[in-house]
Amino acid sequence: MALDIGRRRLERSLAASRRAGGPVPSVAIVGAGLSGLAMAMQLVRSGSRDFVVLEQSEGVGGTWRDNTYPGSGCDVPSHLYSFSFAPKCDWSRRFAEQPEILGYAEWCVATFGLGEHLRLRTTVQSATFDEGSGRWSLECTGPDGDREVHEVDVVVFACGQLNRPMIPAIAGLDTFAGPLWHSARWNHDVELAGTRVAVVGNGASAIQFVPLVADQAATVTVFQRTPNYVAPKRDRAYRPLTRAILARVRPVELLYRWWIYWTFEIRWFWFRRDSWASRTVTRLFVKGIRDGVVSERLPDHALVPDYPVGCKRVLISSDWYPTLQRPDVDLVESWIDHVEKDAVVTDDGVRHPADALVFATGFASTQFLAHIPVRGVGGRRLADEWRAGAHAYLGTMVAGFPNCYLLYGPNTNLGHNSILFMVERQVNLVLQAIALQLRAGLGEESGPTRRAVLGVSTSAYRADDVRTQRRLAGTAWVASCRSWYKDAAGRVVNNWPTWTVRYWYETLRLRPGNLDVVASDIRPATRRADRPIVSAAPRVASPG
Ligand SMILES: Cc1cc2nc3c(=O)[nH]c(=O)nc-3n(C[C@H](O)[C@H](O)[C@H](O)COP(=O)(O)OP(=O)(O)OC[C@H]3O[C@@H](n4cnc5c(N)ncnc54)[C@H](O)[C@@H]3O)c2cc1C
Repeated sequence: MALDIGRRRLERSLAASRRAGGPVPSVAIVGAGLSGLAMAMQLVRSGSRDFVVLEQSEGVGGTWRDNTYPGSGCDVPSHLYSFSFAPKCDWSRRFAEQPEILGYAEWCVATFGLGEHLRLRTTVQSATFDEGSGRWSLECTGPDGDREVHEVDVVVFACGQLNRPMIPAIAGLDTFAGPLWHSARWNHDVELAGTRVAVVGNGASAIQFVPLVADQAATVTVFQRTPNYVAPKRDRAYRPLTRAILARVRPVELLYRWWIYWTFEIRWFWFRRDSWASRTVTRLFVKGIRDGVVSERLPDHALVPDYPVGCKRVLISSDWYPTLQRPDVDLVESWIDHVEKDAVVTDDGVRHPADALVFATGFASTQFLAHIPVRGVGGRRLADEWRAGAHAYLGTMVAGFPNCYLLYGPNTNLGHNSILFMVERQVNLVLQAIALQLRAGLGEESGPTRRAVLGVSTSAYRADDVRTQRRLAGTAWVASCRSWYKDAAGRVVNNWPTWTVRYWYETLRLRPGNLDVVASDIRPATRRADRPIVSAAPRVASPG
């Protein structure tokens, strides 16, 4: 799937720079989820050792470290949920569960020797670009609570879209006497057997844990705002022979991976607004729900969405509807008014007794780097740049923030395929950018004395945004529903608006014409450190 262009270019540029006695750019990666690890692995494979991975928690894996709730797992088939340059071929089941995916993250660390680059329990508090030196300064809180500053040439933010849990402000929440928690911070100390559990939310996490909780609890009450489309999950453990073949016969595994990729990619047709495929699939879903699940107890309005397929994330589970049909599980559509010490009270005045309260209410998904003040050229704040909604050139670069990249950034989320595919493409772009930066630093005069600064040009950044918004207008994401893809103003900031194969193509080669590259002399004795000596992209030879 990957041509690994970025890795090969960086490898060559690093070798050229070393031969010329030139500098190797230092890199800070913020976040040790799968995106941060992908960046780190590709740097190692390129021959770069001068990088650090700063991670606020105590371990790697991000999403898959945080979400330990019962039933937590992937809803993309396992064989598409590893990087093509670090494939895992011995998955135990078709849809991997959280421990196995976390194991994959740990395997990446061990196999690529990332341990020595990891700084765990280190939270990046702010990032500031210094125009004089062309470097980034990251202020961090270290493991002992001490202040640390990391100065680097390149910063890569791999902070994810879905790791800051959101709990709605509900009146009386602080009066609830029992335990309460968010699904991404599962409280494993609470014994749920025989208790009355209230679950707020019915999204991708809830549909995974509610069936398992219902097996233990005395009762489960699910509070939902709107119903979802839920497709069956064709999950199963692989038979030993199948697993062995996939693990050992690489061409078979590759074919299988490709087959999964294309069967998922073709679903993009579903998400094209008002298309024949979208209308047909919506009709089939609705028919299936009406024929198989709707009843007096679970009426049409409780189960049948009033928006087209794809506007909200399509969920997969084969247990969800049978669970809702259980007599000890209640689906409540009324809005929550307030919480009392032992109950949730809805706006129709009904009290729903509860011993434990679980929030499956998602994440601050549209806020991206809002938790880290990032300052670029001229002290410009990223938060100001994104006041009208987060966006980035191919989800990766923001004008005015040079030598700075985002992984799983704005408009790179998907509704129909593997996020790791997108992340891998972004890493390819970043590696090419670092290679170009290196070559620009060496320049035609070939000296070890220059440092290059590279960023997307304002015109390319704006044109990319216009193109993304135009494409989004033709997708199901913009239909009338509330979803975690939209910010408060209704702008879709999370999702990539078309085929992923299109993203593959657009991220295949970094286009120098879309960049501003400035190389500065860093030999104070002969030239002023901040004087630009290369300033136009076309003058910088592409390394490939
Ligand atoms: C429950 C759940 C199920 C999912 N299922 C799927 C699926 O089936 N298929 C799919 O493709 N995707 C799925 N996703 C999306 C998933 O998030 C991505 O696939 C992928 O794991 C994202 O990796 P990441 O490294 O970009 O982000 P994350 O995994 O969120 O990692 C970000 C890391 O950055 C760290 N960080 C953040 N801020 C700072 C800071 N200031 N300083 C230091 N460290 C910081 C965090 O601690 C975290 O470790 C799911 C997400 C969730 C929440």
